[in-house]
Amino acid sequence: MFELINKNGVSYFRSTVLKSKHCFSTRLGGFSILDHTRGLNIAFGRGDDDETVLKNIMAIEKAIELPSGRIISVPQIHGAEVRSVTMRDAGAGVYKKAEFECDGYVTSDCGLPIGVKTADCVPILLEGRDNEGNVVAVCAVHAGWRGTASKIAKNAVEKLCSLGIRKENIYVAIGPSIDVCCYEVGVDFACEIENKLGQNYKNKFIKRNENGSLYADLKGMNFEILTSFGVPKENIDVSEKCTCCDPELFYSHRGQNGKRGAMIGVILK
Ligand SMILES: [Zn+2]
Repeated sequence: MFELINKNGVSYFRSTVLKSKHCFSTRLGGFSILDHTRGLNIAFGRGDDDETVLKNIMAIEKAIELPSGRIISVPQIHGAEVRSVTMRDAGAGVYKKAEFECDGYVTSDCGLPIGVKTADCVPILLEGRDNEGNVVAVCAVHAGWRGTASKIAKNAVEKLCSLGIRKENIYVAIGPSIDVCCYEVGVDFACEIENKLGQNYKNKFIKRNENGSLYADLKGMNFEILTSFGVPKENIDVSEKCTCCDPELFYSHRGQNGKRGAMIGVILK
């Protein structure tokens, strides 16, 4: 279950399936004042000056009590790599220049927050536990349609398993993203999903409305990928929120025609 928390003026969602400190930020709170970024924009280079973006990120750090100055969130490239990061990378992409780009992170280091930026794409936070229920490693993934089709969610599961974590001990929160109500796609998109994920995915997660338009369910695809690679479905929490339906609460790439800020999904071991 997802809960909307308001702390120190910052509103964010958290999932009851995760033990680790984490959040899916919204646009409520923060210091951005431009029309298209108004609120809690955490993305650099979208109109806000860097100082404002940093103030917003620090407000999130404070609200969820993250160690300050360490969050990692590097430029995202719609790839499928889930990269192992350590304390040496602390602050990359936020407090210091990023020396790499990627769309997913895994870490077993304590005190190292990892975050993915989204505004319609699917943010996925995972934690892997030992048999006693202690969190061994955490993972954050940015899954747009390309990342979804390249099965970045499967790569996250594999990374956690490579650390000795059993699949039944993996817990996952799939955060707010554009939903099937708003995510109209083209025929080429449907073909790409069929090519990369198979006909079942196309049939199950791409719906045709009465006018013949196609709509895709990215959260559903990621849920299916996770369960088909062994994560128990009862361990997975899926947000019901659509980022395009609620412009007061979320930035939306589709809803704002690309001129928008971004939210962050962040987790800490
Ligand atoms: Zn919607």
